Amino acid sequence: MRVPAAAISFPDEDREWILSQIDESLRSGQLTLGQVGRQLEAEFADAHKVAHAVSVSSGTSAVEIPLRVLECKGKEVLVQANTFFATAAAAVSAGADIKFVDCDPATMAMDPAALQAAIGPNTVGVVVVHIGGFIPPAIRDIQRICSENGLWLFEDAAHAHGSSLDGQMAGTFGVAGSFSFYPTKVIAGGEGGMLITNDSHFVDEAKIYRDQGKASFLTNDHTRLGYNWRMSEPHAAIALSQLRRLDEFVDHRRHVAALYDEALADGPVTPLAIPDESRCNYYKYIAFLPAGVDRSFIKKRMREEFEVALSGEVYELPLHLQSVFEPWADGPLPGAEELCARHICLPVSAVMTDEQVELVITALNEVIPS
Ligand SMILES: *Cc1c(COP(=O)(O)O)cnc(C)c1O
Repeated sequence: MRVPAAAISFPDEDREWILSQIDESLRSGQLTLGQVGRQLEAEFADAHKVAHAVSVSSGTSAVEIPLRVLECKGKEVLVQANTFFATAAAAVSAGADIKFVDCDPATMAMDPAALQAAIGPNTVGVVVVHIGGFIPPAIRDIQRICSENGLWLFEDAAHAHGSSLDGQMAGTFGVAGSFSFYPTKVIAGGEGGMLITNDSHFVDEAKIYRDQGKASFLTNDHTRLGYNWRMSEPHAAIALSQLRRLDEFVDHRRHVAALYDEALADGPVTPLAIPDESRCNYYKYIAFLPAGVDRSFIKKRMREEFEVALSGEVYELPLHLQSVFEPWADGPLPGAEELCARHICLPVSAVMTDEQVELVITALNEVIPS
């Protein structure tokens, strides 16, 4: 494949540093919830201009833990329909009765009007997702609607490491935010996740849930229905080395995106419009196909004729149409259905070359003539 859908970057010196950290934890015997994890938490909080960060086992547990802290068992939680399975599954695991909310096809984010209309007597909170790493200005309307209705707001920011709106970082618009270090994300840990918040009570509770619901590390007094949601030291070392490259990775992704923006201007394929005040990390470069164009056929031609792999959609099918969520699906959500069907994600990575970008554009022009 001349242009892979995504690529991970671990320069030589980073791999060496990671191995030295793992060696250190093997020597000390501190293999989980240790010094490296605490360093990762401190630096992650700094990078997102927030008071606290709690490292956990995955981006999924980074959603489930806060929803447990928020005690949403038996209560209604509103979740964006166009998101990854884990966003809604973690809410269900936390005991919430979920309800899907439509998105605005212009931003791929939760539509404030649809949110307003979905609020019911049993609603306690809202989970939004910054699709592709883009925080749209409408997040301010969502904040206002939540506060007017006494609802908490939680951000599943698994796509949005380092993204911001008017300088305000992803994960800081509501009560807490979550991130993932799954290998396809903007920074990788192998596995792992992070929870950020400015609320110290929230941190205390999250740490109890993370370690089997124990009231403290040294006691065997279990006060919450926690789980093994800990992050191991080797995973923390990998994530920390990547975190130190976050700005560099995002700058390069933004460079790739700027090349795509320029090449696609006035063509038949329309990029998702991102206003200047929103600094997108370009976890995905999202663009919309003209009506009637078959996405799977386009992807197949690009792969077979040009060795260009388009990246996975965000997402191919909205959650209310996934069979496992049938019990929570009520009625069509046209915004999510339309954009899940029509968008593509051009390849982006922290190590993609300008030549690769040109090949993607050539291939796209060939398979979708204007
Ligand atoms: C990747 C992802 C998750 C899950 O993260 P894991 O680390 O794989 O558990 C949750 N929500 C969204 C939006 C994601 O993209």
